[in-house]
Amino acid sequence: MTAASEVPARLGAVRERIARACERAGREPSSVRLVAVSKVHGPEMIRAAYDAGQRDFGENYVQEMVGKARALAELRDLRWRFIGHLQRNKAKHVVEVARAVETVDSTRLAEALDRRARAQGARLEVLLQVNVGGEARKSGCAPGEVDALVAAVRGLEALELRGLMTVPPHTGDPEGARPFFRTLRLLAERHALAELSMGMTHDLEVAVEEGATIVRVGTAIFGAR
Ligand SMILES: *Cc1c(COP(=O)(O)O)cnc(C)c1O
Repeated sequence: MTAASEVPARLGAVRERIARACERAGREPSSVRLVAVSKVHGPEMIRAAYDAGQRDFGENYVQEMVGKARALAELRDLRWRFIGHLQRNKAKHVVEVARAVETVDSTRLAEALDRRARAQGARLEVLLQVNVGGEARKSGCAPGEVDALVAAVRGLEALELRGLMTVPPHTGDPEGARPFFRTLRLLAERHALAELSMGMTHDLEVAVEEGATIVRVGTAIFGAR
């Protein structure tokens, strides 16, 4: 297991990977936001990353995110991003805690989030999750559904549509993800969406080269789960 004392150096190494990839791609490092994916790891690990300057954290499970948000409530500028599969009946709890939901993949889910956000007088940033690989077991809308979903979400007043997110099919070689990242970028460009959330521990360099503005990294920062 990785100790909390190791988190700052691991975080620094990830920032360095991002900076080097940006340099190769001719991009500013500040154009890529690092989301530290803290699922399974306890509040002490999150606090270690926070103390090392990390502010955006990604969580996959509603109950877990709510519990950690409570435990770390005094860290007022910590931002939670929900990146897991979301059921509509949990929309309320997500909206209470998260700044952004990156995994909106249906109009009905978007409407549930909008309703809850309006009830709380809140605004919620959303990204649409796209199943670019067409994998049966993965969440996300099909690439062919993006147009309709974009139009629907743009009509919801409490939701701020920021971009697209994907988890590509796993390939041993990170290069295998490149065509999927490129597909996501083309879809985002077509709708003038600024944010592209793609790239994880295994393939963040390829994602940055293909235009990622958000990378979601867990293992490289917090260790194996
Ligand atoms: C767990 C997870 C990550 C982080 O994956 P690592 O390989 O540990 O970096 C990123 N995105 C999503 C959607 C995840 O579920």
